[in-house]
Amino acid sequence: MKIAIYSAHPFEMTYLVNVLEGEHKLMVTEEELNETTVHLAESSSAVVLFTSDKVNENILKQLAIYGVKYIALRSVGFDHVDLKKAKELNIKVANVPAYSPYSVAEHAVMLLMALNRHLIQSRELIESNDFRLDELTGFDVHGKTVGIVGLGKIGQAFARIMNGFGCKLLCYDPNPNAELGKELNLQFVMLNELCSMSDIISIHCPLNASTKHLFNAAAFSRMKKGVFLINTARGPVIKTEDLLQALDLGLVGAVGLDVYEFEKGMFFHDHRNESINDPLFEKLRTYNNVLITGHQAFLTETALKNIADTTAYNLNCFEKGITCINEL
Ligand code: NAD
Repeated sequence: MKIAIYSAHPFEMTYLVNVLEGEHKLMVTEEELNETTVHLAESSSAVVLFTSDKVNENILKQLAIYGVKYIALRSVGFDHVDLKKAKELNIKVANVPAYSPYSVAEHAVMLLMALNRHLIQSRELIESNDFRLDELTGFDVHGKTVGIVGLGKIGQAFARIMNGFGCKLLCYDPNPNAELGKELNLQFVMLNELCSMSDIISIHCPLNASTKHLFNAAAFSRMKKGVFLINTARGPVIKTEDLLQALDLGLVGAVGLDVYEFEKGMFFHDHRNESINDPLFEKLRTYNNVLITGHQAFLTETALKNIADTTAYNLNCFEKGITCINEL
């Protein structure tokens, strides 16, 4: 089958090519799928896409004209795909629902610990021969109250780690599972309560209409002063403008972001020779108590292998007409 792979990054190529080459005829491009690159999918039966690819109504119509009948997403999240339009056009969409929840959960913990123990500042001091400790005091995470927003696969993996740290766990999820709560030693609460009681909040819900800007000025005003906020889910769950204000007012003590509201077109690319025309991002990265990584939480060898294997499975199901458990 002819397959077009978009946004193919060097970090994932060996994994993808290993499982797909030989089985299929591949068109591989580092370009993102958008209006100017959609023609590269001409005569392909399937496209393999990343979170940064544009999959709106117009692109889907064009893909349908070019004969594309299947979209294999190399991601858990599918908020960037117009699923309703895809269905109308008879284009099936499958994702990789679980490739390694540990990769993202562990990254969330890394952001928390790096902020808490001032890891970046510590390195800078060591590099400048300044061995004083006065600016580096952190806190024991043991005994702190941690609020988890979304108790899916990643939220659960995060909860297990924080249990190991000896934290008190609170969770907000619109579909609470009492048995799971008991197993993970956590208490389900409403979001307002989670905000007002947590020392640390970690976001693990999907982006959808109900979670866009879930963390806005009203939510920040309810939080414990100095709360640590970690977001490894999706950027638009936090309203950046309000976050900046909360940082300026000292409401939020530290922020770890692996995702950013306006990351599309910026993250995953080399912009060293350009300026970043995004005043919110420019401001965000000036704070010492904000640590940003460029959507790399998933990036472990295990995750990359599992993404490639599941993508091959999804494509195989489509080619052979077998029911695919990952179809959306
Ligand atoms: P999942 O589907 O297993 O779990 C999502 C959980 O969120 C579910 O329990 C659901 O009930 C809950 N939820 C839904 N709406 C909610 C709301 N309004 N408030 C609170 N909880 C809500 O998904 P997952 O595998 O745990 O992944 C979670 C998200 O993490 C994905 O949707 C994706 O956006 C993001 N993600 C990020 C990276 C990264 O590299 N940064 C990688 C993978 C996934």
